[in-house]
Amino acid sequence: MHTPTSRGEDPPLDAPLDVLIVGAGLSGIGAAAMLQERCPGKRYAILEARAAIGGTWDLFRYPGIRSDSDMYTLGYGFKPWVDAKAIADGPAIRAYIRETAHSRGIDRHIRFGHKLVRASWSSKEALWTVEAESGEDRAIRTIRTRFLHMCSGYYSYDHAYRPHFEGEEAFRGRIVQPQFWPQDLDYAGKRVVVIGSGATAVTLVPAMAQTAAQVTMLQRSPTYVVSRPSEYRFAHRMQRRLPAGLAYWATRWRVIAESMLLYRIARGKPELVKKKIVQMAAHQLGPDVDVAHFTPDYKPWDQRVCVVPDGDLFTALRRGQAEVVTGHIARFTANGIVLQSGRVLEADVVVMATGLSLSVLGGAQVTVDGKPYAPNEAMAYKGMMLSDMPNSVMTFGYTNASWTLKADLTAAWVCRLLNYMDRSGQAIAVVRPEAGVAPEPFLSFTSGYVQRAASLLPKQGSRRPWQVYQNYLQDMFTIRFGRIADGVMRFGPKGSLP
Ligand SMILES: Cc1cc2nc3c(=O)[nH]c(=O)nc-3n(C[C@H](O)[C@H](O)[C@H](O)COP(=O)(O)OP(=O)(O)OC[C@H]3O[C@@H](n4cnc5c(N)ncnc54)[C@H](O)[C@@H]3O)c2cc1C
Repeated sequence: MHTPTSRGEDPPLDAPLDVLIVGAGLSGIGAAAMLQERCPGKRYAILEARAAIGGTWDLFRYPGIRSDSDMYTLGYGFKPWVDAKAIADGPAIRAYIRETAHSRGIDRHIRFGHKLVRASWSSKEALWTVEAESGEDRAIRTIRTRFLHMCSGYYSYDHAYRPHFEGEEAFRGRIVQPQFWPQDLDYAGKRVVVIGSGATAVTLVPAMAQTAAQVTMLQRSPTYVVSRPSEYRFAHRMQRRLPAGLAYWATRWRVIAESMLLYRIARGKPELVKKKIVQMAAHQLGPDVDVAHFTPDYKPWDQRVCVVPDGDLFTALRRGQAEVVTGHIARFTANGIVLQSGRVLEADVVVMATGLSLSVLGGAQVTVDGKPYAPNEAMAYKGMMLSDMPNSVMTFGYTNASWTLKADLTAAWVCRLLNYMDRSGQAIAVVRPEAGVAPEPFLSFTSGYVQRAASLLPKQGSRRPWQVYQNYLQDMFTIRFGRIADGVMRFGPKGSLP
């Protein structure tokens, strides 16, 4: 699979590439950095549907946009996060991704405005033929590649999940969606209702409360919300005493160990952890806000636990700058929302923080040797490679830890796989479903967006190497150190699928 070229060269799109990465977000840029370092000489390009680097961190522009995991693990293993803040805002994360791309010459490999719409595999040629739409007229450009690395994220960029409510047409205010935030929206002095209780809602509420007349977070049911410091004293101490790389490494490992331990305790002793989380929330909310709004009836980590930096949401609620209401919407009226309880929430602006619309393989149609390929019928090998989809890997990060931890492992594994194929002269790598491995849902979350997408996602299997661990240490052993030729992965020359 080796085709020498000078690093940073702009490859012509008509000659087959060694690797095509789809997506110039956190994962795609990280994958390219790893590829340049560990497989020097590979000819690659990045297809990016949008006009910018950054993916999520460029798309989302709502007030207060920030990470909810710490940047010591959301950052790349190979590039220290040196800002003071552990929980960073969107622009800082975007700048970090762009800087990674720029400083390594990765940006020269990106084909902006190219949306992958079809990918067709030919075993005869051991090549993917990829069709990308580009330009206003959505002209199709064809690219051929030996390997396809999908770093297209997990949700649709074109639409968000947006339920419709009775009477919306009558509402005289403005209804907005966080994914498509209108930059001209002036909500200063206005009454705002934010519908939702997830990471986006808990970010928006304190941010908008700074200038809005009133902000109400309207949730159907409570979510676990935990306050974390926006800056980590340990990280600062390490940064003062150690070189940047070492300080980052030490902090990253401390955070990994701590969060894995907390997750383990939460799953092992859910009642105890629930009590503790609710107690902490009650303490920060003060006596005037009912902690029932933050007391879910599911166990911690059945759904993602929301993090608020320095308790900003609780502070806004305690000070009366914002309010939380738990209830179901009956209908919209001209002036706001009527709940099934009969309560009326007057509003000038309603924000639908109702979630994402999940999407796999960037929404592209895939065929393998002329047959339509259904990712939802496939089983994921080590959570990365889909059965019967040769020479391709899909990056899908953790749901209970920073996405990048798994994205980094995946990118490094792609390099190991490519180097193995070069050394052993193999043109095709594929995993096939194994008898006796029962299909299980890819994600075990009970969250609405995961449940809604269950029919789109591939499956995981009931045993190794088909399990999706959601556990960095376990993945490190199986992905970083596990053998490439493990007996499940099949290799062969071009001609037909091994
Ligand atoms: C608001 C928000 C906050 C989040 N906060 C956190 C957090 O704190 N911690 C965490 O771990 N995770 C968080 N996540 C998850 C987050 O998406 C990941 O952390 C990470 O940004 C994913 O990076 P990615 O590059 O894999 O995907 P994305 O950031 O989604 O980037 C995918 C890129 O692929 C491109 N693309 C998609 N389809 C195609 C196609 N067909 N053709 C060409 N290009 C395509 C897109 O345009 C995009 O640029 C958050 C998600 C959201 C929406």
